Amino acid sequence: MSTFQQLGLNEDLLNGISDLGFETPSEIQQKAIPVLLEEERDLVALAQTGTGKTAAFGFPMLQKIDINSRTTQGLILSPTRELCLQITNELKLYGKYCKGINVVAIYGGASVTDQAKQIKKGAQIVVATPGRMKDMISRNLVDISKIQYSVLDEADEMLNMGFYEDITDILGHTPTDKSTWLFSATMPKEVASIAKEFMYNPIEITVGNKNESTSNVSHEYYMVNGRDRYLALKRLADANPDIFSVIFCRTKRDTQKIAEKLIEDGYSAGALHGDLSQNQRDLVMKSFRNKQIQMLVATDVAARGIDVDDITHVINYQLPDEIETYTHRSGRTGRAGKTGVSMVIVAKSEVRKIKSIERIIKRQFEKKDIPSGMEICEVQLMSLAKKIHNTEVNHEIDKYLDSINELFEDTEKDELIKKFFSVEFTRFFNYYKNSKDLSVSESSSSNDGGERSSGTDTRYFINVGRKDGYDWMSLKDFLKEVLELGRDDVFKVDVKDSFSFFNTEKANEEKVLAFFTDFKYNGRFVNVEVSENKGRSGGGRRDRGRGGKRKGNDRPRGEKRSRRSNDSNKPEGRRSDRSPKKGRRSASDRPRRSRRK
Ligand code: ADP
Ligand code: MG
Repeated sequence: MSTFQQLGLNEDLLNGISDLGFETPSEIQQKAIPVLLEEERDLVALAQTGTGKTAAFGFPMLQKIDINSRTTQGLILSPTRELCLQITNELKLYGKYCKGINVVAIYGGASVTDQAKQIKKGAQIVVATPGRMKDMISRNLVDISKIQYSVLDEADEMLNMGFYEDITDILGHTPTDKSTWLFSATMPKEVASIAKEFMYNPIEITVGNKNESTSNVSHEYYMVNGRDRYLALKRLADANPDIFSVIFCRTKRDTQKIAEKLIEDGYSAGALHGDLSQNQRDLVMKSFRNKQIQMLVATDVAARGIDVDDITHVINYQLPDEIETYTHRSGRTGRAGKTGVSMVIVAKSEVRKIKSIERIIKRQFEKKDIPSGMEICEVQLMSLAKKIHNTEVNHEIDKYLDSINELFEDTEKDELIKKFFSVEFTRFFNYYKNSKDLSVSESSSSNDGGERSSGTDTRYFINVGRKDGYDWMSLKDFLKEVLELGRDDVFKVDVKDSFSFFNTEKANEEKVLAFFTDFKYNGRFVNVEVSENKGRSGGGRRDRGRGGKRKGNDRPRGEKRSRRSNDSNKPEGRRSDRSPKKGRRSASDRPRRSRRK
């Protein structure tokens, strides 16, 4: 394995890399960087998401361009605004010590004039979405006639999104003797034809192809409102009484939270994540292997080594940041010749990812509805009937039979069965009788992230508004970022001139208020208070996990609450390993794939 130094990168870049905390180059970086540094030639690189492609083209480009010139020398095309910003941010970080470098992002939905101004200052590298790029070329706001390097990032995605013509148009404005570097996760016809048309004798690099899924796992997805994830999880568990599963969450905090909620609601669950001591983790794993724990809630990193055979279900409570992680997750079931089910609970806003996963695993998902309350009651009832049917009689009971018979003297068999079953069934029934339908359809409309139920959220007043340059989107982004909340956690954002309102789940109230006790922004205190105004539309009633307790306290309790580290809200793994002193809290620090809408 080589180091970044051995790949031939200069001191300025190495310093940037060390600040970022990158230790060893990823496979694609090892393969691409030396070639791109040494030769002026075209490249086609196939590698999955999360393999470090940005640096694979970013480092060579930063090293090769002439920083002393203000001419635009590098053009990176990428499919979405979010990716565009993400790449721009990354490049800025990589080139932190490259004095004089100017990387500019060009994308739709923002002011053309501002972007043109930035370009005019002299941008050696432009990162652009095809639509806006084409627009700016046609208005002579950007000149790419002298570029030496062009990158087509996520080429398959760009073509999927219908950018073929824009791309060919844009490339038509670039010199023929430039180098073109194409990065893609897959190589469909259209990508091949772009390569053929615009590239000369490209080197091809392919990285890893272990993403194909085993065939005895079936894949299902369930679309729900973001808020209903936990309820959906419970239903999936209740609809599968013999479930023995790993439930994957994205962050340590969610992992702990979900496990605690499940335990509180009477399920035999446990948490497995990096904030637990080795000893705690060993205990949880032991209980899981012994099947004392039916539902193991885990982060990807912590679950990496799990090799337990009989797992019936893998539940993706949230999709992983990097979709190829999905293969690792689903591979936990369907082992040792058994069949398994991998379920994904997905919000409407991320349903596109299912398609991307299908491409990677080369398998189809089945879209299913979250079982209704009555369906669950039926399953539970039949499961109970089977259990009773198969139960071996304990003859200790014999001696009490006379007294019991006496009590039931006037009860018919059917009546007796009904009574008997009601003992167990009524709990489920009462819990589920008024439950709502949790499934959402692809076409149902949602306002800023889905319908909310009333009663469980808190509405806040905040003393910033349009005057401070916010609209609902940017205020929502701002709040999510400073509060370290997930994409669905801030909602009903309503921006007025000098103040605004927003909601969070009641559970976040303390955190929100605590954060804003002495928070200053642009030199003034930002004041947040709980508002009496309950927010726009109210939602329907919803079952809240009360009264639905099942199973007693004699169940294994799983893990004790653990101390929480500061980064427990971040995806576990690489990102949180990053040296904290750099304090990167930029857009690129958010869950990776959420940048794509
Ligand atoms: P891709 O474009 O292949 O999906 P990215 O370039 O976005 O992947 O990289 C994924 C994440 O991995 C980013 O957060 C990036 O900063 C990080 N990363 C890239 N290269 C390395 C490395 N060599 N070591 C550690 N982290 C890396
Ligand atoms: Mg990328």
